[in-house]
Amino acid sequence: MAMVSLTRAQARVLFSQSPVRAQESLELRLVSTPKSGFYYNTVLVPSKNGGYVQLSFEGANKFCTLGEMLVWAQGFVVEGAMQVSHLCHDPLCTVAAHVVRETAAENNRRKGCVVWVDCPHCCLKIRVCEHAPICIRYAPGYETLAEFLEWGLHT
Ligand SMILES: [Zn+2]
Ligand SMILES: [Zn+2]
Ligand SMILES: [Zn+2]
Repeated sequence: MAMVSLTRAQARVLFSQSPVRAQESLELRLVSTPKSGFYYNTVLVPSKNGGYVQLSFEGANKFCTLGEMLVWAQGFVVEGAMQVSHLCHDPLCTVAAHVVRETAAENNRRKGCVVWVDCPHCCLKIRVCEHAPICIRYAPGYETLAEFLEWGLHT
C-alpha cells in the first residue's frame, strides 16, 4: 500500500468538513496535559512565525493552527473578519469548548480581563467579565468549569 501523503489544502478540507475527525485529532494526536482542572494544554510549542501552534498530518506540514482545529471540532469554520478567540486566554489550550469565533475587536476586548474577583464577604467569586460568552479563568476548589459556573459565582 502506498504511503498517504496529503497537500495542506487536502488536509484542511479533510478536517474542516468533519467535526468528529477534528475532535478525534485533538484527543488522539495531541499530547495534552491537564492544567488545573479546567484546561488541557498541548505540549506542542508555537512556531516562531506569529506564535501559533500549528498542526501537521500525513505529509501536510503545518496545515492549520490549533485554534482552527478547535473551531472545526465544533462544526464551524473561520472566515473573513472572524478570528479564533480563546475564552481562557490560553493559546495552548486544547479544549474545543473554550474557543469561539468573533471579530478582532471582540477578541481584543477580552485582553487583560481578570474574569472574576474574590467576594470580600464570602467564598464566592464576583464576575467582573462583561464578555459574552464569559471568559474562562481557573478558580481553586472547583473540579470543572461547569461546577464553578454553577456554584462558584455570585448571581
Ligand atoms: Zn482553555
Ligand atoms: Zn459574597
Ligand atoms: Zn472577559
